[in-house]
Amino acid sequence: MKNIFKNFIIFFIVIVSIAGLFSFFNTDNPSDEKISLAELSRKIENEEVQKIEIIGEKIEITLYNEEVKETRKESGESITQTLVNLGVEKDKLSKVDILIEEESGFNFILMNVLPFIIPFLFIGVFIWFMFKKVQGANTKALSFGESGAKEADKKKKVKFSDVAGSVEAKEELKEVVDFLQNPQKFTKLGAEIPKGVLLLGPPGTGKTLLARAISGEAEVPFFHISGSEFVEMFVGVGASRVRDLFKKAKKVSPCIVFIDEIDAVGRQRGTGLGGSHDEREQTLNQILVEMDGFDNQTNIIVVAATNRPDVLDPALLRPGRFDRQIIIDMPDIKDRAAILKVHAQNKPLEKEVDLKLVAQRTPGFSGADLRNVLNEAAILAAGKDKRRISQKNILNSIEKVMLGPERKSHVLTDKEKKITAYHEAGHALIGHLLPNCDPIHKVSIISRGRAAGYTMNLPERDKYLNSKSEFLDQISMMLGGLVSEKIVFKEITSGASSDLKRITSLAKQIITKFGMNENLGYRTFGRNHGAVFLGKEVHEDRDYSEGVAEKIDAEVNDLIGKCHQKAKDVINENREKLDKIANTLLEKETIEKDEFEKLIGKKKA
Ligand code: ADP
Ligand code: MG
Ligand code: ZN
Repeated sequence: MKNIFKNFIIFFIVIVSIAGLFSFFNTDNPSDEKISLAELSRKIENEEVQKIEIIGEKIEITLYNEEVKETRKESGESITQTLVNLGVEKDKLSKVDILIEEESGFNFILMNVLPFIIPFLFIGVFIWFMFKKVQGANTKALSFGESGAKEADKKKKVKFSDVAGSVEAKEELKEVVDFLQNPQKFTKLGAEIPKGVLLLGPPGTGKTLLARAISGEAEVPFFHISGSEFVEMFVGVGASRVRDLFKKAKKVSPCIVFIDEIDAVGRQRGTGLGGSHDEREQTLNQILVEMDGFDNQTNIIVVAATNRPDVLDPALLRPGRFDRQIIIDMPDIKDRAAILKVHAQNKPLEKEVDLKLVAQRTPGFSGADLRNVLNEAAILAAGKDKRRISQKNILNSIEKVMLGPERKSHVLTDKEKKITAYHEAGHALIGHLLPNCDPIHKVSIISRGRAAGYTMNLPERDKYLNSKSEFLDQISMMLGGLVSEKIVFKEITSGASSDLKRITSLAKQIITKFGMNENLGYRTFGRNHGAVFLGKEVHEDRDYSEGVAEKIDAEVNDLIGKCHQKAKDVINENREKLDKIANTLLEKETIEKDEFEKLIGKKKA
């Protein structure tokens, strides 16, 4: 509103000054007396007129008595004709000097052209103001087709040293950086510079971070765009954005173009999965076209990242496009310690803090999770007005990140508390006694997130392979909760439902995916179309007969049944230990590893 008002004032001033200019250049001499043409003719008749000067339409009359009068003639008509028409005799007229002066160029423009131009000028300025306003309010409206790719911030540079672990990935990417800096070194030997590098890995493992590190190390321009930014409501925008992006990139090559979350546009074409529509296909096609258009001089490397390699269009993965694929895995224990170290740099830690132990307690955590753990710990410590972060703060935030925040307000009745204590004691006891289970780190009946209590058992070191006996003992341990409830209270509660879900899924995998079953043969059953990467099944095709399906069900039930029997035996044989654990839990709510070992002895290796 204020702006409009300001604009009007500006207009007003402009108009007033134009008007002023007009009157300034108008050569009318206000002291000259104006007379009519009729009066002029009378004066000529009376022989009072010495000279008539005609300037355009203005007539300046000089009398013998030195007076100067002024009049105007009709445009287009000659003055002599007019005067004759008014009855002036020709010989009287011939005694008057008639001077016809050229109108000055400037005056001519001022008088004749400007009046036409001014309104247009006025309208033009108005429209210009309007456009400026529209642009200010919504700059995007006029820049649909621009890629919106951002050049990386030069100041906040990320270096490879900021990325912990991922040694192999960094090694490969260093080569890419080398390509950009000394292309001749490679082309001399006839090597073709790779066009595309695809970073594959689960979410939070540092793909985006690595790409930013490339830009920080390579010292070449770095364009960053997210796949989802290509796809908008307007059809055709994606493709034109791709074109614009590569046009910009070519101007400043050598450079890196980073397309984050490329699965947003790079999905398999024509599958219909995720409501595939033309827009995305066009965008993808344009990317392929651009990459094919690179020649040896182009020196653009396209780096893309995704956590869904399984849904990518095969055309993207073909040689000459993203032919380099770098897999970034979940960090192992060594990498986790290194990541923690990187993120602990700007955080004051107590001396006692042992990041190795933290790394040991966080299998399956991604880099992003670990950063979150340290951040939560810092918040926790700050909330208690501590100057440094303690080990306890960190361990507490691990559980918070893993299971959700503690729910102190979630008050259990005494009966519920007792059931929960026995449920967790059942898990812990079996986990402790079965040889193939990982040692118990913590048992608690403080509810967190959706769990009423939890038992944490962790491997001594990261495991990449699991044997059948490990799986079976794991299932027995998961069954321990409800078995213990059943033995102690004669019935089970709904608290075991999430255990049952995990048991069913694991048992099914053992039979159908791992071939750990003699009766059904060494093969897999069912084809996954989901993200195998994320351990999720989106959709499964059945590639076996109805009869086999029945067999699978029977085998799954049999396997769970055996594990159940084992869990029952263990608890029945060690009932006094179960009571010990449950009673300690009721008293203290949480038992840590050392205390647990004191209570029922060390785990037999
Ligand atoms: P992605 O793109 O793979 O989903 P990001 O690169 O966005 O994951 O990672 C998120 C955050 O996690 C990063 O900003 C960084 O702070 C942290 N992080 C992940 N991996 C690492 C790592 N290897 N070293 C250090 N920090 C990491
Ligand atoms: Mg990312
Ligand atoms: Zn349970």
